[in-house]
Amino acid sequence: MDVIEVFDGHNDSVQYMEDYKPGGRDFLARSEVGHLDLPRALEGHLVGGLFALHAYPEKKPENNLTITSDGYEMRYADALDEDYSRRLVDNQLAALNRLVERSNGRMRLAESVDEIEAARTGGAFSVVLHMEGAEAIGPDLDYLHTLHAAGLRSLGPVWSRPNIFGYGVPFAYPRSPDTGPGLTDAGKELVRACNTLGIMIDLAHLNEQGFWDVATLSKAPLVATHACAHAICPSTRNLTDRQLDAIRDTDGVIGFNLAVYDIRADAHLDENTPLDTVVSHIGYLIDRVGPDRVALGSDFDGTVVPREIRDASGLPHLFEAMRKAGFDGETIRKFAFDNWLRVFRLTWK
Ligand SMILES: [Zn+2]
Repeated sequence: MDVIEVFDGHNDSVQYMEDYKPGGRDFLARSEVGHLDLPRALEGHLVGGLFALHAYPEKKPENNLTITSDGYEMRYADALDEDYSRRLVDNQLAALNRLVERSNGRMRLAESVDEIEAARTGGAFSVVLHMEGAEAIGPDLDYLHTLHAAGLRSLGPVWSRPNIFGYGVPFAYPRSPDTGPGLTDAGKELVRACNTLGIMIDLAHLNEQGFWDVATLSKAPLVATHACAHAICPSTRNLTDRQLDAIRDTDGVIGFNLAVYDIRADAHLDENTPLDTVVSHIGYLIDRVGPDRVALGSDFDGTVVPREIRDASGLPHLFEAMRKAGFDGETIRKFAFDNWLRVFRLTWK
C-alpha cells in the first residue's frame, strides 16, 4: 500500500517529556514506553499533531472508579485552581518550545495550515498547540490571548471536570452524555473570543448541553478532537447520532479516539481489541457523517490503544485494516490527513 501520511488530532505526550518532567522520555529518541516520540512518529508516517497542554491535580485521585453491574462510573473530578493550572500549562508550553528548539529543525511549531504543509514538504514534524480544559484562563480571558500569541490554535473549554466556563462530562458507561448544565456566561464569552481569534473549539469532554450551547453560538465548524460513536459504545465521552449530525451539518470533524473502552460496544479495557472492531466503528462514523468529516484523534500517551496498533509506529496497520475492509485510498487519506487540514483552514485566521 502507498505511504499514508497522518496528522493526528490529539495526544497527551508533553506530560511524559523529559523537557517537562525530570526522568521523562526524550521525545527525540525512540522508546518502547508509551505511544509517541519523533522516531516512532516517522515510522508511522505521522507528520504532525495537536499537542495538548493540560493541567491535572497535584495528587492523583484514588478509588474514584466504581464498577457497576453493566459498566463503570468515575467520581466527578474536582475543579482546579487557576494560578496552579497556569503554572503547569506555562511549564508545558516552555517544554514544547525547548523540544522544538533542540530538534534542530526536525520539529516545528506550526500556527497555520501553510506552516503544516511547509513542514511536511520539508520533512519536518508539526507541533500544533491545543489546550485540554481552560482552567488556566481567568474570566478576563487575558491568558487566552497570551496563549494565542504563543501559537495556541485549539481549545477544549473543559476536561471531564467543572470549571468557570462549563461542565466536563463525567466518565461513565452506559450513560447519556446529557449529565448536567451547559456553558456558563463566561463559557459563552470564551466561545465568542475563540471565534474572533480563530481558535478551534474542541467539544471532546464537554457534556451534551455544553455541546449544544457551543453549536448555537459558534460560527466555526463543530469539532471533537477525540471521541467515538455513542450508538456503538454508549459511554458519556462518545457522541450521540444527533451530535454527529450537527458536526456533519457544520462541515466539522470528529477525531476518532483509539481508546479501546470508547471503541468497544462493551467498553472493556482490553488491549486485545481486534482491528476489525476498530475499523467497523470508523465505518459507522463515516456512514453517518461522510468521509470528509472523520479523522484520527489517537489520544496517544493518554489512553489504552489496541495492541495491533501499539503506538504511533503501528498506524499503517490501521490503514491496512481499513483498506482490507473495503475503504478506498481517498477515504483513508482524508481520514489520515486531509480532513484536519480542511477544518483548520475553515477555522483559523
Ligand atoms: Zn482527553
